[in-house]
Amino acid sequence: MILNKELIKRLPKAELHCHLDGSLRVETIIDLAQKDKIELPSFNLENLKKQLSIGENIGTLEEYISRFDITLSVMQTPESVERTAYELAEDCHNEGIRYLEVRYSPILHISAGMTMSESVDNVKIGLKKAQSDFGIKSGIIICGIRHISPEVSLKLADLAVQYKNKGVVGFDLAGAEENFPAKHHREAFELILKNNINTTLHAGEAYGPDSIHQAIHSCGAHRIGHGTRLKENSDLLKYVNDHRIPLEICLNSNIHTKSISSLKQHPFPEYLKSHLRVTINTDNRLISNTTLADEYMTAIKAYDLTLQDIRTIIINGFKSSFIPHQKRRIVIKNIVDELENEFGFEQRVIV
Ligand SMILES: [Zn+2]
Repeated sequence: MILNKELIKRLPKAELHCHLDGSLRVETIIDLAQKDKIELPSFNLENLKKQLSIGENIGTLEEYISRFDITLSVMQTPESVERTAYELAEDCHNEGIRYLEVRYSPILHISAGMTMSESVDNVKIGLKKAQSDFGIKSGIIICGIRHISPEVSLKLADLAVQYKNKGVVGFDLAGAEENFPAKHHREAFELILKNNINTTLHAGEAYGPDSIHQAIHSCGAHRIGHGTRLKENSDLLKYVNDHRIPLEICLNSNIHTKSISSLKQHPFPEYLKSHLRVTINTDNRLISNTTLADEYMTAIKAYDLTLQDIRTIIINGFKSSFIPHQKRRIVIKNIVDELENEFGFEQRVIV
């Protein structure tokens, strides 16, 4: 068995950290813009792709974030969010993803009159259709945004409460980390915790371990988005490890946002060696011009991962999902069986 992209694409995987508004097909952006009469910087596929994907020219974080103005401009109608959710799930299915948690912030989709609830209803329709067409299972994570306002986060948390067990599996806090601490959004998290809702927070991506400490201890985070800078606090790292708090690692994204300067600087291999519950994710497929298989290959090449490492990371993904525990046990057992019976993973295979 050779550890190459073909194999990685065939292996069953979970994708836990993927932003809907950063993961569209370029063709779809052009098509939606033409239908809804929306201006784009270019209607040429290659040109637009070049402008939206980071590629070789990594700019400032502002330039990274400004790309979302373009994607969000075509995601303001029920039809557009349904279609983009469906297509994302289809793209995931095509690279062996069995379970997808897709996140987005409904407040960023109301400029043409769609309500936040309508947006959730239609993302759900898109994901359900994909499940019946391709079998891929999924859940929605609603994002509060650090740099908008705590009041808006509270509204979004309330929306997560309304849709608990009805398509929404968790609540996140995304957006600019520096100068916008999670504790300002405490009321939103009080509501989330009072209602026993799963939470994951972007933390330790652009700001240090204090941000991760706050996410866990002030906001009750069950998972951490990125956690790149966790290595700077060994005591907190031990706590995260002891409590099996999963880290949603997004390698290429960390380079593109300048969270780290090179893959060699990334603590991922240390985390894996310390048995932290690391998972591999894409973050923004379009902006980072990546897929989950690409992210796995990035890790394999940069850190010389073995098949056993890949097995661990895959199982970590399903273990860390917000699937209810009783169901999750069955899912994990089936994935382990499949890895062993279909792919021979019970033996240590040397590549
Ligand atoms: Zn993210």
